Amino acid sequence: MTKQADVVVIGGGITGTAVLHELAKYNLRAVLLEREPELAAGTTKANSAILHAGFDAPAGSMKARMNVEGNAMYHELKDQLDLDIRWSGSFVAAVDDEQMAVLQDLKKRGEENGVPGLEIWDGAKVHEKEPNLSKDVKGALWAPTAGICWPFGMACAFAENAVINGAEVLRECEVKHIIVENGAVKAVETNQGTIETKYVINAAGVHADEISKLAGDDSFTIHPRKGEYILFDKTAQKDLVYTPIFPTPTKMGKGILVCPTTHGNVFVGPDAQDMDDDCKEDTAVTIPGMDEILSKSRHLVPNIPVGATITEFAGVRAVSSTGDFILGPSQMTKGLIQAAGIQSPGLTSAPAIAKYLVDPIVKATGASWKQDYKPGRPAQPCFRTMAAADQNALIAKDSRYGRVICRCETITEGEIVDAIHRPVGARTVDGVKRRTRAGMGRCQGGFCGPRVTQILSRELHIPITEVRKEMCNSYMFYNKETKSGGKA
Ligand SMILES: Cc1cc2nc3c(=O)[nH]c(=O)nc-3n(C[C@H](O)[C@H](O)[C@H](O)COP(=O)(O)OP(=O)(O)OC[C@H]3O[C@@H](n4cnc5c(N)ncnc54)[C@H](O)[C@@H]3O)c2cc1C
Repeated sequence: MTKQADVVVIGGGITGTAVLHELAKYNLRAVLLEREPELAAGTTKANSAILHAGFDAPAGSMKARMNVEGNAMYHELKDQLDLDIRWSGSFVAAVDDEQMAVLQDLKKRGEENGVPGLEIWDGAKVHEKEPNLSKDVKGALWAPTAGICWPFGMACAFAENAVINGAEVLRECEVKHIIVENGAVKAVETNQGTIETKYVINAAGVHADEISKLAGDDSFTIHPRKGEYILFDKTAQKDLVYTPIFPTPTKMGKGILVCPTTHGNVFVGPDAQDMDDDCKEDTAVTIPGMDEILSKSRHLVPNIPVGATITEFAGVRAVSSTGDFILGPSQMTKGLIQAAGIQSPGLTSAPAIAKYLVDPIVKATGASWKQDYKPGRPAQPCFRTMAAADQNALIAKDSRYGRVICRCETITEGEIVDAIHRPVGARTVDGVKRRTRAGMGRCQGGFCGPRVTQILSRELHIPITEVRKEMCNSYMFYNKETKSGGKA
């Protein structure tokens, strides 16, 4: 297969999908390539899910600028794309005078970065809002513009909107090579054929340095830094904290936090482990990692409900050799646009990064705004939050909404079928989980997993042995003929 595109985006994480969403507003043929069956298969699926206010990054850095702009843009995008965001605010807590002085520095830096509403609260005021905080907390920096979000859902929303506006998403499409002629990008070679294009946007996360090298630009490297987490069941620790609670930051990052999710759980983490450069996909959790995050999070919130743990997970930060986001045209290869080194606050920054990268392409190509651009996406039914009358009406229209598949989270067959057939629909068990929450509750899919597998097989018209958990080769069952599968 050979096809043509004006712009090829490599990577279907939050950065690539936000870029595609921005490109789809214009009369440009835009294609996103993601090597896994699902979007957000990399760092976007495993992080702290905070829309940061923007006081952490040094003034004048791209991180600071994109963070503050991105945070503001999400306020509008939340309604437009029905994003799962709660504007919770956040605290950085201090336990001694030295840390109280750090809060003053953070506030000053935040004000330089343009973060609105920062305040330093005394211990009594902080405890009024967060009664489960340690009595050692003397004060905190309050950032009212911070929020918590559901990153996978946001990446899907960006992609769905782009697709309904004519952009294309090719999944299981791995970039193998980039053809450069006379110093300019000519085409992208993938396992699904060649795409001729003049612009490539490199949003390949921890692999962005490898993609850049394929196009002849070896000016930076990406180093993996892992962060582990523990997630708690929502019934056991309801109201433990209402907002993300950070410790005062260190050189390695923002520190180990205690944080609510938009779905009512609480998690603790992440630590920061520098990994070997060949460990970019290492998301294993470790006993030392668990010990560290539990002991450090207890300094802030003593009664961490460790007995209510439902899962542990890890994400890998893409730390660039420059220390900042690497954004914009490559100095070595014409047409190669970098979105590399997108570590935290990458989620928050994504819409601002997208605009920063797409505006010059629009200008250079003279592409016009799509007159029939649609700003939203199809509504996604959420049975458990509906009023009883609406639930009954939905069941009367489609009886599959009357069959609960995931009992922990009350997710119906109707919602799972909708998730599979949406514009960039679920192809795997975890794709269903992350779009609907089926399998995200206390039993972690122990009961609903087999039923979700059956529904995927039926709706995608594939044998049950072809249903995968998440990644390309993660078949749910052992296939005797191909001698593969059976492990996630
Ligand atoms: C522990 C941790 C905590 C964090 N907390 C926060 C937070 O609270 N707030 C915040 O704003 N940010 C946070 N971040 C940062 C944020 O998660 C990242 O900046 C963001 O998810 C990066 O998204 P991305 O799209 O650039 O990369 P990814 O999500 O990694 O996407 C890259 C994609 O490229 C694909 N790909 C790679 N190679 C190829 C190829 N050859 N062909 C095709 N596709 C390819 C991958 O499969 C992947 O899906 C955190 C990160 C970590 C690790």
